[in-house]
Amino acid sequence: MPNSDLLARSRAAVWHPCTQMKRHEALSLVPIARGEGAWLYDFDGRRYLDAVSSWWVNLFGHCNPRINAAIADQLGKLEHVMLAGFTHEPAVQLSERLAQLAPAGLGHCFFASDGASAIEIALKMSAHYWRNEGKPGKNGFISLQNSYHGETLGALSVTDVALFREAYGALLKRQATVPSPDWRHAAQGESARDFALRCAERLEAHLQQHHASLAAFIVEPLVQGAAGMAMYHPVYLQRARALCDRYGVHLIADEIAVGMGRTGTMFACEQAPPPQPLPREERGSGITPDFLCLSKGISGGYLPLSLVMSTDNIYRAFYADEMARGFLHSHSYSGNPLACRAALATLDIFAQDGVLDANRSKVARFNRIAGPLAGHPKVRHFRNTGMIWAFEVDSPHGDFAQRCFMLGLERELLLRPIGKTVYFMPPYVIGDAEMDMLVERMLAIIERLV
Ligand SMILES: *Cc1c(COP(=O)(O)O)cnc(C)c1O
Repeated sequence: MPNSDLLARSRAAVWHPCTQMKRHEALSLVPIARGEGAWLYDFDGRRYLDAVSSWWVNLFGHCNPRINAAIADQLGKLEHVMLAGFTHEPAVQLSERLAQLAPAGLGHCFFASDGASAIEIALKMSAHYWRNEGKPGKNGFISLQNSYHGETLGALSVTDVALFREAYGALLKRQATVPSPDWRHAAQGESARDFALRCAERLEAHLQQHHASLAAFIVEPLVQGAAGMAMYHPVYLQRARALCDRYGVHLIADEIAVGMGRTGTMFACEQAPPPQPLPREERGSGITPDFLCLSKGISGGYLPLSLVMSTDNIYRAFYADEMARGFLHSHSYSGNPLACRAALATLDIFAQDGVLDANRSKVARFNRIAGPLAGHPKVRHFRNTGMIWAFEVDSPHGDFAQRCFMLGLERELLLRPIGKTVYFMPPYVIGDAEMDMLVERMLAIIERLV
């Protein structure tokens, strides 16, 4: 019985992330033996459709043969070398290829391993930039209400989650928030665009008053994931870029969850037209943030890898004779070659398979078959951005998320609702039959919970 044995040993020896371990007295952990495509399998032949891409990281399925082959090839050459003072082909190639793909002007790649570390880097780099420019007082940050940027102390200080603030607030330098353009909060009859513009006015008021003490404004472009897949109009990003320019404050785009094709374009920022028309050769790339943070899907969901891309302007402010003007930050596994190869294989799949185009058809089809969900009398705010769908369920159950998760498992679905928000964020390899199944079984689950 590998299942029950594994569960008992896991409870005893593994402290699971963001989990009240006592709940696992009553609630079983889900043992996974292997994965293939969009499916995860346990030891007893049960399977689960990974509708959340294993915490939003997986893009091209579990055990993807092409990514496996790239990692195996790299494994035979070089597993790791420190990136301070040394370099290697995978890190260089990945930096070059991302600079080609990302919004214009983001030519410098700084590597780390997890998303929260990328946020720490962007925050530190921004404040250090202002210090190098002779403005050390510019060291504050603003984020959106209900923002999520990770759980290390710096990242938590720009994360607006009540539970975290209560538990760890005393450890943090508290930073301000501005209203979120999440269109669910628009007034009756107000369009998502008008609401976004109204929120941008609040951002402007804040910048006007506080810019002298602010280093950067950090946002999750288009979709605030942990807030419950809160979606907003791209005009907000366009205004934010213009306002940050006007008030001399950096714009940090946290595309850890929304980058790598998740919102329909390679990067979410591409959907926000630049405030000033660009020369023709640079058109189509959208706004350029001062810092772009990537992780999660960057390695296809295989290995811990994160990075921060920044502009020449930022890079030059650190380029000097004195060590103290350089950017002082490192991680043991920065730019790990295996993780970089997984990322390069991921970029190859995007290019070779025309993934963004294929996803557009998948999205159109899913939106057609999801009609009964979107129109269900107990479903509110059905919404979609690229390969993300979300909606709220009018359910009387306070423990809706838990119940929905359990009912999902019984029906071969891996769902992880946030409160009463159900979302689908499947790997891009999800097929038609699997999408049909997802809608059908979700409807059955809703019937049990309303
Ligand atoms: C997941 C996430 C992070 C943190 O990444 P970790 O790898 O979990 O530290 C930061 N920002 C956003 C928007 C995320 O979704």
